[in-house]
Amino acid sequence: MDTDHSALGRALDLFDTTPAVGAGLPLWLPDGAVVRAELERFALEQALASGCRRVYTPVLAKRELFERSGHWDKFSADMWPEMVVGGESFVLRPANCPHHTQVFAARPHSHRDMPVRLAELGSMFRSELSGVLAGLNRVRQINLDDAHSFCRPDQVVAEVRIALDAIRHCYAVLGIEVSRYRLSVRGPGGRYLGDDEQWRTAEGQLREALDAVGLPFVVAPGEAAFYGPKIDVQVTDRRGREETLSTVQVDNNQPERFGLSYIGEDGRRHRPVMVHRGLLSSMERLTAILVEAHAGRLPTWLAPVQLLVLPVGERHAGAARELAAELAAAGIRAAVGPRGSLPARVREAHEHRDAYVAVLGDAEVTDGTVAVSVPGLRTREVLPRAELVERLRQEIAGRRRERTVAGR
Ligand SMILES: [Zn+2]
Repeated sequence: MDTDHSALGRALDLFDTTPAVGAGLPLWLPDGAVVRAELERFALEQALASGCRRVYTPVLAKRELFERSGHWDKFSADMWPEMVVGGESFVLRPANCPHHTQVFAARPHSHRDMPVRLAELGSMFRSELSGVLAGLNRVRQINLDDAHSFCRPDQVVAEVRIALDAIRHCYAVLGIEVSRYRLSVRGPGGRYLGDDEQWRTAEGQLREALDAVGLPFVVAPGEAAFYGPKIDVQVTDRRGREETLSTVQVDNNQPERFGLSYIGEDGRRHRPVMVHRGLLSSMERLTAILVEAHAGRLPTWLAPVQLLVLPVGERHAGAARELAAELAAAGIRAAVGPRGSLPARVREAHEHRDAYVAVLGDAEVTDGTVAVSVPGLRTREVLPRAELVERLRQEIAGRRRERTVAGR
């Protein structure tokens, strides 16, 4: 099987595109939706663990919002054209940040409430040309694991460190290797907002956080966002192409442009700093990277089918359904394999990258055991049904990367 995520994703029934919907607008098929839902749940848990609260905001807004944020001026070439309704202009958002400034601005804040951390798995839109759209890497709707911390200036470095720690934790769980950390700063040219002093301070804060966490990094002039410098976490795909997965950005410009404030200890209004954090990146890019990194053989917690039960003969079908029901009751995604010759069905499970295969024949039904194997590995373990359920449950709950039953 091809190891490119686009071919693998189609072969494994994760996603597809159709001419009627259009290029760059992938459809998540039921198996792919399982993977994405697990990743979204993981993203939310990580956001809550770092003190974020969840919000939901609309995917469009008045053009004015993006004029104010600077996107309309600096970024409109990548945005979809505006839509006029009732004499008002609306656009699909190219980023979630401006909406989050409005969530912050909707209520007053005291210095004691800071930082205010908001998280959303938000959809945003890019007017990519159809010629450059391939698989999940370049898409027109990006579903981003996004968070914004509105903090006091003295909290910026700590917020960046929290983001870096969370990134490292997530990559360890997901089995993603960082190729390098990149400090992306301004380059020559004038497409940036804000003054030199703000940029120097923000860059210094990012450097300080990287040093404090002990991460080596390279400096990349010209790779900053138009509103602030950022740390890009770079990963390399199977073709050796480097791309950015996670980002952490320090932004003084959007708080200023939106007139955000909190009440300080002195009773006066102060300007917060906005730390943007894209932890798991977009669901599209992350899935592409994971599918390639694991050659389609995802960790069990992400696998659409976690255990495929194969009855040896027709007379074992009832026991197979019973075992599948027992697993489902424990929250494990189990399926009963189709009819046909056993070797052919095991091969099919292998090709479909099912996490485990359990064979049920006379001996197993009599003993109350199951013979479990990992498709692709020449190992097998016979164990009592209750033990199988418990071990799988733990492997999945712990988001373990290695198979814990019938492993090497
Ligand atoms: Zn942002």
